[in-house]
Amino acid sequence: MSWPAFDRLLGQCEVCRRWGARRLCVDCIDRFAAPRLRCRRCALPLAGTANECGECLREPPPFDHTVCVADYGFPWDRLVADFKFHGAVELAGVLAERLAAAVAALPVPTLVLPVPLSQRRLAERGYNQAWELARQVARRRALPARADVLLRPVDTAHQADLPRAQRFANLRAAFIVDAPRRAALRGARIAVVDDVFTTGATARAAAATLLAAGAAAVDIWVLARTA
Ligand SMILES: [Zn+2]
Ligand SMILES: [Zn+2]
Repeated sequence: MSWPAFDRLLGQCEVCRRWGARRLCVDCIDRFAAPRLRCRRCALPLAGTANECGECLREPPPFDHTVCVADYGFPWDRLVADFKFHGAVELAGVLAERLAAAVAALPVPTLVLPVPLSQRRLAERGYNQAWELARQVARRRALPARADVLLRPVDTAHQADLPRAQRFANLRAAFIVDAPRRAALRGARIAVVDDVFTTGATARAAAATLLAAGAAAVDIWVLARTA
């Protein structure tokens, strides 16, 4: 056996560099993805015994639950960036495994959908990281997943440059559900999968679009959340 093949067989932890069978060792997962008390709607870390954050109580988002694996910081920022921008599609497996475990306590959805990329972005990147995650999480939970229901026909302006209200309006208009696909949504509980939950604007826009198209409820499943 040549050394490169041996390397692939054994693998090395992406974080601590320890040799083992996995891309992320159990010690690192335990250390960096320790469960913590979070808002059940938006996954914001909470102190005390509340189960929803102040913002969700004041202005409930259109989704019912958000589950995340970890806070968006070391090493998840690096892992997600590798996964998203540097073609490390193979990381989807280990990340999806963590996400599948994290969503086990939620209501079982009818259908799992990824946050879509525009055709242009998809062509640039070659894959939609949210779809890679969604289909692997769905497979682990024996649920159907589809990439052709929630679509993003236009590329939206760079979200980071826009004020919050405008981000939402911008995104709300960006997502559509094709008329022939609406039957799949009628009365369904939908899990929407994305890599990172930042402001929640994407999650709100996707959920609002799905509810308007006939879905009964929407939950958000993400790898990491900014605190
Ligand atoms: Zn490790
Ligand atoms: Zn909240």
